[in-house]
Amino acid sequence: MIRDTHGHVWNLGRADRVPLIVDCSGRGGTANANSKPSDRTVYVATNTEPHDCIIVGAGAAGLTAARALQAQGKRVLVLDKGRGVGGRMATRRIGEYRFDHGAQVLFGLPLELRFLLSDDPDRAVVRPCVSAPHQSEPGASSGLFAGVNGMSAIAKTLAEELAIETSVRITSIGWRDDCWHFASESGAAYTARTTILTPPVPQILRLMEHSGIELQSPVESDLRQVQYEPCLALLVTVDPQACRLDQTFVHPDGGCVKLLVDNHAKGVSAQPGAVTLHASAAYSEAMFEAPEEEIARQMLHDVGSYIDTSQATWQLHRWRYSQAVSRLSESYVALEQPGPLLFAGDGFGWGRIEGAVWSGRQAAEHLLTHVL
Ligand SMILES: Cc1cc2nc3c(=O)[nH]c(=O)nc-3n(C[C@H](O)[C@H](O)[C@H](O)COP(=O)(O)OP(=O)(O)OC[C@H]3O[C@@H](n4cnc5c(N)ncnc54)[C@H](O)[C@@H]3O)c2cc1C
Repeated sequence: MIRDTHGHVWNLGRADRVPLIVDCSGRGGTANANSKPSDRTVYVATNTEPHDCIIVGAGAAGLTAARALQAQGKRVLVLDKGRGVGGRMATRRIGEYRFDHGAQVLFGLPLELRFLLSDDPDRAVVRPCVSAPHQSEPGASSGLFAGVNGMSAIAKTLAEELAIETSVRITSIGWRDDCWHFASESGAAYTARTTILTPPVPQILRLMEHSGIELQSPVESDLRQVQYEPCLALLVTVDPQACRLDQTFVHPDGGCVKLLVDNHAKGVSAQPGAVTLHASAAYSEAMFEAPEEEIARQMLHDVGSYIDTSQATWQLHRWRYSQAVSRLSESYVALEQPGPLLFAGDGFGWGRIEGAVWSGRQAAEHLLTHVL
């Protein structure tokens, strides 16, 4: 094992147990749409020039890494299973209403995101935020920022000028002929000399398992220590007159809801009456698989003193992995064998958006310094 100042670098003994690889050259790099890739199948797009790096995940970590690599002239492709970019920096439109339903604020503005601030209100993508969503957070009273048009707008701006494919779920990866080969759920194929995987760590581990790549101890046992809490998010629309929130962020005492966010006061929804509710981690854990009507009934009941829920309409979003509550102290993990494979995201370093940005940046720096 070689350890460096920011991340872990490992020689991975048994990662050469790579998946079955199917050559689909001559088919435009895409497998026959009727033949779904079987377990551990990686389609090899031999007729395309490999990218310098493929990044899986267009969240804060993946986008930051891609920008850092592209700025140095590297050919980068970002793949994400979501319909849009941003990952857990998520904003949803429901009719006239808009909701931030994942991350609510930045606890400080990393260097990589400073360009999003502007004195010109037409150009600003983030702005300072006056009240805090988590009263007990260290530093919560100062240095808070939110997306002017929602948190996903931050990601959209970071994504500008990057090569990104969305609605691409990577199901397995394998190493052959000095390249990583990627297979997607729909049978598309991609190749790159290096890769950075940025999904939540349990999803990375599942991808490794599915790809037949065995991570040796202590890498695997370290990664299994990374834990995330779930969060049930209820997006509620109410009659604006019935919304009695006097602050943008409200923390009810007790009950199952830990946070109410007034998206109109926050500037996300032009239309008043769009309220995001985040359930506590304990409640989210206990009720994660419960029917949505039951969850909505209980959460709405608990906030009855803040909003009149009698005419409320709602949508539920279940975040299996919301915030990394137990993380690796290193800002990324790099595997050297059989080829350069890095893990990054908010499970590494200090977590949250700022940690994910830092992790992505450091992973990119590793590749630039040692590989590309
Ligand atoms: C409800 C909630 C509230 C939060 N509140 C805050 C807050 O106020 N402040 C804060 O700083 N942080 C907050 N967070 C945490 C913050 O959102 C995350 O720490 C940060 O966004 C993580 O960024 P990331 O790039 O590491 O991961 P992600 O944003 O999760 O990005 C990973 C991406 O990988 C993609 N992906 C996964 N698997 C695959 C696959 N197989 N193929 C292709 N793509 C794949 C996903 O679609 C996703 O877009 C909150 C999170 C939630 C859910």
